[in-house]
Amino acid sequence: PRTSVVTGSASGIGKATKELLMERGETVIGVDIHDADVVVDLSTAAGRASLVEQVSDLSGGAIDAVHAVAGLASPTATTVAVNYFGTIATLEDLRPLLVGSAAPRAVAVSSMASLFPPDDILLAALLAGNEADALARAAELEAGGEELGALIYGTTKRALARWIRRNAATDNWAGASIPLNAVAPGVVDTPMTSDMIKTPQQREAMATMVPMPLNGIFEPRSVAYLLAWLAGEENAHLCGQVIFIDGGSDVVIRGDAT
Ligand code: NAD
Repeated sequence: PRTSVVTGSASGIGKATKELLMERGETVIGVDIHDADVVVDLSTAAGRASLVEQVSDLSGGAIDAVHAVAGLASPTATTVAVNYFGTIATLEDLRPLLVGSAAPRAVAVSSMASLFPPDDILLAALLAGNEADALARAAELEAGGEELGALIYGTTKRALARWIRRNAATDNWAGASIPLNAVAPGVVDTPMTSDMIKTPQQREAMATMVPMPLNGIFEPRSVAYLLAWLAGEENAHLCGQVIFIDGGSDVVIRGDAT
């Protein structure tokens, strides 16, 4: 059976993914800041180092897939640390454990919010890999009020999508026969969004803000099916794709641009 690492496994999409893979007979190493096989804080360098140590120990140094799902949506610098630097550390630092697999795979979770206009200063710091500058800019945005703070989440997810595009075809990934891809979910019913979509009125307001012509707000298991395929043996040729699973938001927002 395959051994997969799933971050964010204590809740929402990560939890649904862990459950699906286990139902299918895989060995899953769940990672989260609480209630997980590997309890680490992915916002810190120490937590990221401990992730590699603990996963190496638990797996005997060999894994088949990495699902980098953990993330936050609060308008804070921690969101930048987890969504971007924590996710990239998860992918990069666990990559050496993938190389012995017959079918190594990696997948990350971006967001439909990556389509929203970014903060250009934060985006530049992220793409430059400069965590200190990125955290400082995020603190400025947070202090600048609701509208500026709201730029943080989408900017982290846009930068992550671009990191996937920049890295998937390199020697480290495609060159090592590791498909590296991402999903970009729309509005999924998880603890991250539950406060925003509790009442019928809230759900309607969300649907007006975020167009979802195909089946609207959906359950995390839908994303888990896609993650499982992207990180499964059947996927040998998708490279650097950011797949929108969003009920059509991307199509409505971007139209026929490809
Ligand atoms: P969730 O809040 O239910 O789960 C996120 C998990 O990440 C939690 O268990 C949390 O403890 C973990 N996490 C947060 N900070 C961490 C840290 N510092 N170290 C380790 N783990 C940490 O949310 P979700 O909706 O399942 O989100 C999963 C991913 O999907 C996130 O990356 C999120 O941005 C993305 N996403 C969600 C939606 C949505 O509508 N729910 C849409 C698009 C993208």
